[in-house]
Order: sequence, then C-alpha cells, then structure tokens
Amino acid sequence: MPGFELFGEEERKHINDVMDTGIIMRYGFDGPRKGVFKSVELEKKITEVFGCSYAQLTSSGTAALTTAFSAMGVGYGDEVIMPSFTFVASFEAVLSVGAIPVLVDIDETLTLNPEAVRAAITPNTKCVMPVHMCGSMADMDALQAICKEHKLLLIEDACQAIGGTYKGKSLGTIGDAGTFSFDFVKTITCGEGGVVMTNSQEVYEKCDGYTDHGHDHKGVDRGADLHPFIGYNYRISELHAALGLAQIGKLQTILSIQKKHNHILKSYLEQIPEISFRATPDAEGDSCSFISWLLPTESLMVAAIEEMKEQGIFAGNFYWFNNNWHYIRKWHHLKNVETLNNISEAQKTALYKLQTQDFSVSDAVMNRCISTAISLAWTEEQVHDKGAKMAAAIQKAIANLLVSVS
Ligand SMILES: *Cc1c(COP(=O)(O)O)cnc(C)c1O
Repeated sequence: MPGFELFGEEERKHINDVMDTGIIMRYGFDGPRKGVFKSVELEKKITEVFGCSYAQLTSSGTAALTTAFSAMGVGYGDEVIMPSFTFVASFEAVLSVGAIPVLVDIDETLTLNPEAVRAAITPNTKCVMPVHMCGSMADMDALQAICKEHKLLLIEDACQAIGGTYKGKSLGTIGDAGTFSFDFVKTITCGEGGVVMTNSQEVYEKCDGYTDHGHDHKGVDRGADLHPFIGYNYRISELHAALGLAQIGKLQTILSIQKKHNHILKSYLEQIPEISFRATPDAEGDSCSFISWLLPTESLMVAAIEEMKEQGIFAGNFYWFNNNWHYIRKWHHLKNVETLNNISEAQKTALYKLQTQDFSVSDAVMNRCISTAISLAWTEEQVHDKGAKMAAAIQKAIANLLVSVS
C-alpha cells in the first residue's frame, strides 16, 4: 500500500534539485529558482497519468476536500451526503466550510449505498461525496444518475484510491471534482500533500486562488497579483512536490506489485467457503492496496481475529468496526459536537441527531469485515506464507466456533 516502502534515489534526486536552488516555495522567485517548478510539473503529470483537465496541489488531502467544496460553492447550510465509513477528514472538510455532513449507510462496496443516498436527499442537499475506501470504488453509475436527476454536485474522496479506475476512468476524475491525499501512508506520498482534480476550468481557477490567499496568479509578480476572492493558505511546498514527482514515476510499479500480492493472498482466502469479498462495481479497477473480506457473522469474525492475534499474525489487518478513526461507531467527538469551533445551529442539530440515527445496516457489514493491507515490501514467499497462515487461523477459528455451538 504505502509508496514510502519504495523510497530510493529518485526521491533524493528530485529533492536535491530543489535544495540546489534553495527555493522551497512553489510561487515567485522566478530568477533564483532556475527553471525548477516541481509543483507545476507534478500537477501536469497528474493530469496526464490520471486523465483529467486540471490538477491543483494542496498541503493535504483534507485541504484538497475543503478547497473542492469552496470552489464548488458548497457552504453554509448545505448538506453533503457521505458514508458512515471513511476517515474523519471527510467530515472535517464538510464542517470546515460551514456545511452539514449527512451520514448514510454503506453496503458491501464499503461505501455509499445508492438507495441510502436517495433516501437522504432533502431540499438542502447540495452534494454527494462517495469515499472510495481501501483502494476500491463506489457504484459511480448509480451515484451519477442520482446526482444528475437531483442536480447535485458529485465530489469523490479518492484519497485512498490512487490508481484505481471505474470503467476505464481514474477514480477521482469522474465526478465534478475529486481528491487524492499524498500523506505518508497513501499509495504515493509527498510526505504531506493532496490534489483536487477537475475537468472544469472555473473550478480549477477557484482552487488555484483559494489555496494561495486568493492570488489570481496573473500579475507580473506576486505583489501585482489581484485577489478576486478571499482565500486561504493550503499551498504545497516544492520539497513535498519533489517527493511526489519521484513517487508518481513509481505508480505503475506500485500498482503491479499490489495486484500481484493481493491476488496471491486472495488465492488462499477464497478457499475458505465462509469468506466473501467486498463488492467491487468494476473489479478490474481495484487498486489492490487492500484486500477486504467478510465472514458470515460478527461472532465468526471476532473468533477469527482472536485466533490471528493469538498466533501473532494480526498485524496489517484492520477491523474497522472497532477503529477510532474510520467508522461512525467510535466518532464520539462528532456525535457529541466536541469541537473547538463555534459551529452553526444547523450543524449542531445535525451532529446531535447522529447519536440516535440507526446505522445497523452499516454495522452488519462492518462488524464482519476486515481489510488486509498489501505491503510492497513483502517477498513473494512471504505473501504465500502470510496467506497460508491467515487461512489456517481463520479455518481453525471457524471450526472451533462450530464445535462450541453444536
Ligand atoms: C487520508 C485521507 C484523507 C485526508 O488526507 P490527509 O492528506 O491525511 O489530510 C481524506 N479522506 C480519506 C478517505 C483518507 O484516507
């Protein structure tokens, strides 16, 4: 999964290019930077590799989401429909622009259930935000149809799905805008960073200004730029972009290793009749950064986890149902409105409502699901060993449980 596992000479070279001029900032200093524009270069590369018209780098994936919402006019009082399973950054970005996160159930795609989205639409709904969790994708055709029918914006949180595709298009380039995160543990990393991708020139120009204090970047120098609207500082630095440039050059290698390791692991897991796999609306497009699998019941999954822990082979497996950061169940800070900001009454009301909202449909998926992270550093032998040991432990747990029940 994480690109940092392949750090090498290429990263050092791009970073040294920046250090050789000493210009760490992406804008200005046109003389001393001697033609080194790592951020511009990376943005161009992103449009080519992922197939979109425009890319705006940001300081993080969270900043990319915030920027996308701002550029598309999602703000005060607007409702954004999003899944109950994601990383906290998704709702943080919604709240940061004054909008209201409306959390709905997921299905076995591990992201938005289109029917749950439909049921959550109100006159205040402005945007639907699928989150392509753990390397695979939402049912984009269904979500696009809903957005078209109800004239809603579609913003993809593709932060965890770099390199994934849906019907031939890169995840993150299908909606009105989409984001990647390049934080340290993502498929390719800048150390910290993110990007907004879009095919709309207007959205792009707003992202460009918003991430740099409103600069229109049309002046002869920074001082001469105009500020057509109020912005923020969500800039990436040249050092981070340099790291990203090295990493994007390794993307195809990363994806092919992920695919290979993922398929080997799957060949062991799929021999267990009780195991099923997350639903993938386009299986070809899975980035394979994780393998997400399910057992028929929560008690079987808990037993399998216990057995894997007992055998010391649980590392790298994520049981999201018990996770503090990725699932509604443990987001007490969100449900209790524990915020440092004086947020609007509408936001508060919506968040308190989460305390009593029924997420049993999501629970019934998440409580029997595990995602196994795919490492780039494994040898082929290690993947086989891991697959065999995991399968044996799971089978033992299933057998024990069946004995104890009968
Ligand atoms: C990592 C991540 C983000 C945020 O990215 P940062 O760069 O860490 O701010 C947003 N959404 C999802 C689903 C993520 O996994």
